[in-house]
Amino acid sequence: MDPRHASTETAASGQALRALRAARPAPFWLDAAAAPAPRPALTGADTCDLAVVGAGFTGLWTALLAKEQDPGADVVVIDAGVVAGQATGRNGGICMASLTHGYAQGAELFAAENARLVELGNENLAAIDKTVRELGIDCGWEASGELEIASSPWQVDDLRELYEQHAAAGIPSTWLDGGELRAEIKSPTYHAGFWHHDAAIVDPARLAWGLARACEERGVRIYERTPVSSLDRAAGGVELRAPWGSLRAGRAVLATNAFRPLLKRLRFHVVPVYDYALMTEPLSAAQLDAIGWSRRQALSDAGYLFHYYRLTEDQRILWGGWDAVYYRGRRILAEYEDRPDLFAKLAGHFFQTFPQLEGLSFTHRWAGVIDTCSRFCQFWGTAFDGRVSYALGYTGAGVAATRFGARVALDLVHGRSTELTEMDFVRSRPLPFPPEPLLFPMIEFTRRSTENAELHGGRRNAWLRGLDRFGLGFDS
Ligand SMILES: Cc1cc2nc3c(=O)[nH]c(=O)nc-3n(C[C@H](O)[C@H](O)[C@H](O)COP(=O)(O)OP(=O)(O)OC[C@H]3O[C@@H](n4cnc5c(N)ncnc54)[C@H](O)[C@@H]3O)c2cc1C
Repeated sequence: MDPRHASTETAASGQALRALRAARPAPFWLDAAAAPAPRPALTGADTCDLAVVGAGFTGLWTALLAKEQDPGADVVVIDAGVVAGQATGRNGGICMASLTHGYAQGAELFAAENARLVELGNENLAAIDKTVRELGIDCGWEASGELEIASSPWQVDDLRELYEQHAAAGIPSTWLDGGELRAEIKSPTYHAGFWHHDAAIVDPARLAWGLARACEERGVRIYERTPVSSLDRAAGGVELRAPWGSLRAGRAVLATNAFRPLLKRLRFHVVPVYDYALMTEPLSAAQLDAIGWSRRQALSDAGYLFHYYRLTEDQRILWGGWDAVYYRGRRILAEYEDRPDLFAKLAGHFFQTFPQLEGLSFTHRWAGVIDTCSRFCQFWGTAFDGRVSYALGYTGAGVAATRFGARVALDLVHGRSTELTEMDFVRSRPLPFPPEPLLFPMIEFTRRSTENAELHGGRRNAWLRGLDRFGLGFDS
């Protein structure tokens, strides 16, 4: 039996629950002294050249790049909550060059363009690195790469094939067999790994706060606690309405991720999926010594259900993933963020991976919503005769890809025809998901089938094989 079964069944027992006892229900990155002071809400009537809805990475990069392209443009960013309050301030901070939720997905969906997509992804990651340095954003940026791990024997062959694809595509990569991997990072669950060097780790909230500050220094106005309820045509552009005010804009970019889209046509293209994460207390020197991991790579499992994990600047371990949960009716509710059963399962898996850390406690537990789409990577489009564009669908891999999303959304909203806007990657769309009441049982069945495949030697049932044939599925 796969040992992760046992932890699912006995998740509520012993060590996992003890370790969770003091965990605060708060996203670790947002629970920080560096959090900026609140910004005003939009009240009354305002105008601007470019309105950006959403102050996560997509919205902030859009505003910053818009000011780079045209310093005189009057740009306003509006968020229903606060800057980086949603996925952007809650994620694993694993910043991957891939624009397509991994190399394999790009190779499968955009074979003819994938080599170029790899180059564009590398350029995008390098541009983020450069921005961090030039703007002096103190966000713990470390270009340590990502190590994908086969944590069950059945994953080794597929992982090896993926490594060979990366190497053939010129992505700097290193293969580690079981012994080499366990010498690098000490876990009894590791069978093999492959380290691709095109990734960094970052404190995502501090990166976003730094981007917001840079936007404001360039004249961008940011309104917080301002949920936009409607978007309509208006003379010379569009009008956005919010509870206490309205904004008339020449053009608008929608960067609303998993939240109810302002354009009806998008309602079936993304579903909000909850992803859960834990943060440990800082490890002592002896505990760090017991796990190795001195090169501080981002880590993730190679299975169908996977954990992602990384060290922080103050030597904690962020540990997230495995269950990706869709709640009936596309609902997003604060109460879904606290799932003791899922946190106990995650904690159980953590101690299976690092049994030598017995006694370590978690200080934070939280969740965030990702914008899953059926092709697992971002898509774009325009509305209102090209005066509005959007970038959505990152499906849990948007820390770096959002900058590229913003770049393309700006090209589209300004009606520019560029190399990027002509790519099939940008012009094509994912298939929509079905409406409720079909959607919930369909996703639940897919999720359970995936968990079964994961825990039974990777054997995918007919349903999953059918989805695979059409390049479809449900992922995080
Ligand atoms: C737990 C978790 C772990 C993750 N780990 C990783 C990782 O390690 N690596 C990785 O690459 N990706 C990861 N991701 C995904 C990544 O965080 C996202 O892809 C990325 O942050 C998306 O940024 P965004 O700006 O598009 O969305 P968001 O950060 O969600 O921002 C959207 C904003 O729009 C606002 N908004 C929505 N509707 C309205 C409206 N009507 N009016 C006003 N404002 C509105 C929201 O308040 C929100 O602030 C993770 C996500 C989660 C939740």
